[in-house]
Amino acid sequence: MEAFELQTTFDTDEYIFREGDPGDCAYIIDSGMVEVSLDKDGRTLVMATLTKGDIVGEMAIIDRLPRAAAARAIAPTVLTAIPLDYVSQKIEQSDPTVRMFLRLAMARYRDMNARLGQVFEELSVGQSDASSDAFASSTMEMKSVMSQFKEMQKRIDTAVTKPAPSDGNSLFGEKTLEITKLLVTEEKLLKAAITKKEFRLHYQPIVDLASNRIVGCEALVRWEHPSGELLLPSRFLTQVEKSDLIIELGYWIAEEACNFQSRLLTDFRHDLFVAINLSGKQFEDQFLVPSLADIMDKTGARREQIKFEITESLLIDNPELATQSLHQLKETGAKLAIDDFGTGYSSFSYLHRFPFDTLKIDRVFVSAMSRSEKSHQIVKSLVNLSRDLDMEVVAEGIESEHEAEIMRKFKATYGQGYYFSRAVNETAFVKLLRTPQIKIAG
Ligand code: C2E
Ligand code: CA
Ligand code: CA
Repeated sequence: MEAFELQTTFDTDEYIFREGDPGDCAYIIDSGMVEVSLDKDGRTLVMATLTKGDIVGEMAIIDRLPRAAAARAIAPTVLTAIPLDYVSQKIEQSDPTVRMFLRLAMARYRDMNARLGQVFEELSVGQSDASSDAFASSTMEMKSVMSQFKEMQKRIDTAVTKPAPSDGNSLFGEKTLEITKLLVTEEKLLKAAITKKEFRLHYQPIVDLASNRIVGCEALVRWEHPSGELLLPSRFLTQVEKSDLIIELGYWIAEEACNFQSRLLTDFRHDLFVAINLSGKQFEDQFLVPSLADIMDKTGARREQIKFEITESLLIDNPELATQSLHQLKETGAKLAIDDFGTGYSSFSYLHRFPFDTLKIDRVFVSAMSRSEKSHQIVKSLVNLSRDLDMEVVAEGIESEHEAEIMRKFKATYGQGYYFSRAVNETAFVKLLRTPQIKIAG
């Protein structure tokens, strides 16, 4: 059996590895969900939640040090293991300069990751008083560490995505290494995909929890891959976001989604809101806001029914740019939502600086509610605090009537999740609209 075909299954809450464990494998997530966390003096800091197509534990491949973080399955998960020995062998056969560069780069990568955890800790202490010096200096430091971190990631990306020489003797040149195959070839395919119009938008209903009626939807991008598979964003979006392709794709997505909002009204008499995700990189484009305003007008979308979703990381990476662009975007008349709330670094003391209309509670909290009293309390206070800040709440990832019922009890405005419907294509979405109540409890 080839090394890369070692598949392992993990149950929910089962550890794949813990901090300090020997780093003997990297993993590609075939299905399920993995949480990567650090233990800081007995507190768990969640660093990332990874899903299908993501890679976990990859640092071991280069630096062979004990694990710097723990990885735990938070849903039934299937992984393909890439044993260190196998990859080490390949690295040993590679060009010595590239080998040394990768070792140094990955050691610094790990160092910065640890530093980031530390700064985050300082920041969470400082955030109880947003005006304190500790908060300000931690924020500054966070920015500087983040920018160094990004710079390093850029360099590593350039090194590993260089096309492999055809002599078969290159570092990651073999087709056996799935990760690199993705990295090397995907960008070319992605470019072609835009030209060949292989991207599709699916729409997931957002439901008013009190009446179970659809009030809007979120546009989610899919790639109709030439292989026939319909790929989810976890398989390609990171790569698109790393390149400038996201600018072009982002405009296509906005236009398609605004068109849908407009047609829902004119063709089907449904005045629903359509939520559009924006990536951080799109904000580097100085024409973003006027172009989005043009798109809303050109398509005939009702501006107040277009809602742009932005994740917390944008606010952290570049708060000045974010503040300016978000205020400009708000002035167009469109609505703004903060996405995946609770998974990043921001806090409520930070939130009032930005003109958000809606807060989306990340599904990690919603799905943990029935298992953990703490998550239950977190969700409850997020709903209450949003109300105090005059924001609507969308609870993401509702998968059962039980979760919907808890959210109704908390008086959360809206819900979104597989319980109501997965993201579906336009035709199927319009069909869903014919059902007066998408789910009837009981
Ligand atoms: P997101 O913005 O948090 O989108 C919600 C994701 O959660 C979607 O995954 C959706 O299918 C999934 N989801 C919804 N309900 C449930 C549920 O009940 N259970 C579970 N387990 N999952 C649920 P998807 O479509 O794979 O998208 C993943 C991420 O990719 C999105 O997360 C968003 O960050 C990004 N993305 C998707 N479409 C776009 C886009 O058009 N532009 C940009 N910039 N990002 C996008
Ligand atoms: Ca979203
Ligand atoms: Ca989300």
